[in-house]
Amino acid sequence: MQRLSPGATIGILGNGQLGRMLCLAAARLGYRTHVYGPETDSPAEQVASQSTVAAYDDEKALAAFADAADVVTFEFENVPAAAAAFLAAHTQVRPTWKALEVCQDRVKEKQFFASIGAATPNWKPLNSLQDLESAVRSLEPPAVLKTARLGYDGKGQAKLHSAGDTKAAWDAITGGKPIQPNGAFAVLEAFVDFRCEISVIAARGQDGKVVCFEPSENDHANHMLATSTVPARVPAETVAEAIRIATKAAEALDLVGLLAVEMFVTPSGAILCNEMAPRPHNSGHWTQDACGTDQFEQMVRAVAGLPLVDPMRHADAVMHNLVGPDVNDLDRYLSDPHAHIHLYGKREARPGRKMGHVNVLRPKI
Ligand code: AMP
Repeated sequence: MQRLSPGATIGILGNGQLGRMLCLAAARLGYRTHVYGPETDSPAEQVASQSTVAAYDDEKALAAFADAADVVTFEFENVPAAAAAFLAAHTQVRPTWKALEVCQDRVKEKQFFASIGAATPNWKPLNSLQDLESAVRSLEPPAVLKTARLGYDGKGQAKLHSAGDTKAAWDAITGGKPIQPNGAFAVLEAFVDFRCEISVIAARGQDGKVVCFEPSENDHANHMLATSTVPARVPAETVAEAIRIATKAAEALDLVGLLAVEMFVTPSGAILCNEMAPRPHNSGHWTQDACGTDQFEQMVRAVAGLPLVDPMRHADAVMHNLVGPDVNDLDRYLSDPHAHIHLYGKREARPGRKMGHVNVLRPKI
């Protein structure tokens, strides 16, 4: 294991709120951070030791960034393949391209889940309206059409309530324009009438040790995470199975860093994997205040070659996302001693923009 010394620099590709919280965790362990992304005055830039504002395909800027970092990691998975390869040629990169590549494409992700024996909703890959029509005949609606790449928070998705919605759903995800597929353009997924949604954040160190946070139960509003609750209201067997799947996924990807796996729990108690991300995850923010070691510190430990530890959850928690104007209603949290407030330093509270979150703790039952 190659352990970074205090004062070493962790480069972080991406400069949003996840990067910001990674920088804060790295600073606690004595590391400098250098964030890279196209936006100015970004949440991460405000707290990083150094920042480069440049496009992800700016090879000159990427080379200077890689040369200045002892290790490079990511706060998002949609890194262009060329940028990832370029960085890997210049410095150590954790996690590697393999994990990013699988997680940035829903087809590869579902094939990966199948390869480790983890179930997913039934699905079909497709590239045209004709493909969609035939997928609708075999996967009877209700179903969800999703772009294979670059979808998040419900973007790039359309629900089909019946076969009559086929054309409208196709137009909704293509914008009515011709598509340029890179592999399969989209997938049609059976709609799951789930009992609840859960996610597990797994951390894997350079020595291959995996440490998982227990599953949180996640509720969404307007296709965006609204709350994460711990403990999740699922039986102990479901907790154990969810942790087993996340551990196996992190191992099979040979990942160093974090892997968040989102899952549906069906009325019969089965687990169906929805998607995963090789980075800190919004549904893991509760760990910041309810655990001895949070997801951001585990990620820094992993990429810096430090040992991972038992997260030691000491409280029950509900994480509330502050989306858009929610952030103007802070007073009720400011006067609550059980509420731990995290704001991302964004000046403008546009609708749908994640502005911060609050972890409300209760004594552990
Ligand atoms: P995703 O971007 O795939 O995480 O989807 C966003 C949210 O849409 C999920 O967290 C679910 O609440 C819902 N959703 C996505 N796919 C399905 C599905 N196949 N069945 C039911 N709900 C879904």
